Amino acid sequence: MPESCDVALPVPLESAFTYRIVNGEPPVVGGRVLVPFRQQRMSGIVVDLHERAPKVPAKNVISVLDSTPVLNQQLLKLGRWIADYYLAPLGEVFRSMLPLSAEFKKAIGYRITDEGRMALHRAGMAGSSARSRRTPQEQLEEFRLLDYLAERDVVREERLRSMGHASKALLSGMARKKWITREDLSQARNAARTVKIAVLAGTLEDGKRLNDNQRTLLDTLAAADGRIAVQTLREVEVPRTTLDTLVRRKLVEIVEEPADFHVSAVKPRPFDFQFTPAQQSALNCIQDGVTAGKFGGVLLHGITGSGKTAVYLAAMRAVLESGRSSILLVPEIGLTPAVAADLHQVFGEEVAILHSALSDQERAEQWHRIHRGEARVVVGTRSAVFAPVSDLALIIVDEEHDSSYKQEETPRYHARDVAVVRAKMANAMVVLGSATPSLESYFNATQHKYALLELRDRVEQRPLPEVEIIDMRQEFQETGQEQVISRKLAQEIKERLDRGEQAMVLLNRRGYSPVVLCRSCGKTLECKNCAIALTHHKRARKMECHYCGYSAPVPQHCIHCGSEYVYFLGTGSEKLEELLDGLFPQARIGRMDRDTVRGRQDFERILCALHERKIDLLVGTQMIAKGHDIHGVTLVGVVGADIALGMPDFRAAERTFQLLTQVAGRAGRGYVPGKVVLQTYFPDHYAVQYAAQHDFAGFYDKELRFRSWMHYPPCSALANVLMRSNKLDDVLQWSGLLGRWFESTRQEGIRVLGPAPAPIVRLKEDYRYHFVLKSPSREKLNNLLRAMLAYAAGEKIPRTQLIVDVDALWLM
Ligand code: ADP
Ligand code: ZN
Ligand code: ZN
Repeated sequence: MPESCDVALPVPLESAFTYRIVNGEPPVVGGRVLVPFRQQRMSGIVVDLHERAPKVPAKNVISVLDSTPVLNQQLLKLGRWIADYYLAPLGEVFRSMLPLSAEFKKAIGYRITDEGRMALHRAGMAGSSARSRRTPQEQLEEFRLLDYLAERDVVREERLRSMGHASKALLSGMARKKWITREDLSQARNAARTVKIAVLAGTLEDGKRLNDNQRTLLDTLAAADGRIAVQTLREVEVPRTTLDTLVRRKLVEIVEEPADFHVSAVKPRPFDFQFTPAQQSALNCIQDGVTAGKFGGVLLHGITGSGKTAVYLAAMRAVLESGRSSILLVPEIGLTPAVAADLHQVFGEEVAILHSALSDQERAEQWHRIHRGEARVVVGTRSAVFAPVSDLALIIVDEEHDSSYKQEETPRYHARDVAVVRAKMANAMVVLGSATPSLESYFNATQHKYALLELRDRVEQRPLPEVEIIDMRQEFQETGQEQVISRKLAQEIKERLDRGEQAMVLLNRRGYSPVVLCRSCGKTLECKNCAIALTHHKRARKMECHYCGYSAPVPQHCIHCGSEYVYFLGTGSEKLEELLDGLFPQARIGRMDRDTVRGRQDFERILCALHERKIDLLVGTQMIAKGHDIHGVTLVGVVGADIALGMPDFRAAERTFQLLTQVAGRAGRGYVPGKVVLQTYFPDHYAVQYAAQHDFAGFYDKELRFRSWMHYPPCSALANVLMRSNKLDDVLQWSGLLGRWFESTRQEGIRVLGPAPAPIVRLKEDYRYHFVLKSPSREKLNNLLRAMLAYAAGEKIPRTQLIVDVDALWLM
């Protein structure tokens, strides 16, 4: 019987904490326990058990939450690797790996009752509370709460608590008097978010008959491809019991699905086509790797429209048929309901889909389904890489270059890299797929860490679009005016509209105009929390910060000097839409950016409208570039192709190349060949030139040379060390301390740049200074970072204000 255990807690401290085990169920390694920590109770993961009582004074475990591990040996090992590689506290890593917090954090809400209303009413009639023994202060607070609740439906407990005086005692006292009721909101919210779907199930046995009503229902179902919302089915005029009868006879099955995944666009079923030879050989190679049962990596470099998705799904289906598990990672925005519908068609009930719109509760339910082995195919965004599948055979990372795979909070892991490590630990295959692989992955492939598979042609011999570069400097000279939409782009759009084809125009900047400038004093209008210009949003009539969300009224006068000469400069997607509307008043124009797309439903609605040709012209930010397969789009225009090239970030060229290639890939996916018009002020920049020529290899060679000269990844390991505080003095002091420390411990083979103000020197009220560290040896780099953290802890620099970002994607 173990006497004590070490527990990793989700706090910004590196070490595990020892607790004494008391009677009752013993904890297990990889399981959760509830323990006291500082003034709170906290759940953590048991990482070790000891036969002896702790030598130092230790508190007792409050309760054991799991009798079997929630993190198996492999996931524990993976967690340790992440903690080590990204220098993150182990407990915080485990918290990221387990979506189970909802099991403890019940959402409680309160609602006023009729008695409560009566009490409030009586209190309104003067002096009636005189008989009470409560203090006047308590009464005042009770009535204040009643007053607040009387105007509302259900209010969450935290909300009431944050108002100040609503203590637990006060709330439970009021509940005892039946003035308010307590409700579990997590349940309620859950119920509203699923829909019941009727699915055509078995076939009628010989000799059995159906009555007319039953036949009508089955015909309706069949006409809807065998799946229809129960609610829709209820509109058919038959008795309500008919459906129940069909369910009892096992002809129809009722399944529950998350509500937002129900809208399914009409799309062909996957695989009702012959694989191309290139697809087939990629599939064979992946399958051979899976069968071999040892680690192997593949970089699947397939141009846009080459049919990568079909290869993924076929490989996963084969894994499922052999009784093993697979995980498919997709970028944040890639999981549309249409994709989910496809997945259900291929994998049925065996698939668990983990997307960002799930509530905590739903996420926990999916986790348990996977843990129990009910779902052996997992599809999800970043954190799905931690899905607790057993007998993992294959992990696929779609659009592996996508930046949403990097978590921008502790632990700052990159899911693609974690996928590779997990595959190694599981002796599984890992497939990284993209039309524009990251420099890192392509470099690894050239170093033979992965096999390189290429899909060089689009399916059905469709050509890649022709790209025409428009030099906007020349456009300016010839028209004598700064243009947003060049004459050529306008003409090409007009031709498409006349022919009844569709077009997309990309401008990777939302809002109406990005800068407000005073012509008198030359100052711009900045965010109050960030060193960032506020963007004008015309329709919403406000100025907004795109980094912290702060908003301010639209200025009539300069806030610095009072002058009236305030000018709105530059163009965002909202203004572009307005300009296009002026040029093509007859066209139906849609816009897709974070202002028009608030959730996945908006996203899907716009895509559907595009599919159904209810939109002729779609304007938008990078959102329009991602993976959509709309056959009617024959023209893509790019306005301001070079915005990213101006950023002080070594990945600027790579990002520009990827964005241009991806958006160009949206054109000509149907029978009519596509065209791209690319407007730029840097027509000679290699990122623009190689994208226009669809030349990934050319871009890669040139970019790799630059990275090698500058000692940037993938030629060198890199980490960003950022200090932040709302007091400038703190940041300056810490910068000085760490700067001197780096100097005194100067290590061979490590370059330390800084301290320097970060490119965004103030963000969300914090001042920011940073160091950039580069080294050909990752081991040396991480050792130095570890020593630096220990020194910083000694100097009492708070761990939460000192960010270590290993393999940072953004140096901003
Ligand atoms: P990618 O992800 O490589 O850009 P997709 O996987 O989205 O490409 O495939 C593009 C389109 O081609 C999809 O509509 C898909 O159904 C279709 N497709 C895939 N493979 C084939 C094939 N062998 N023959 C015909 N159509 C195919
Ligand atoms: Zn001014
Ligand atoms: Zn801001």
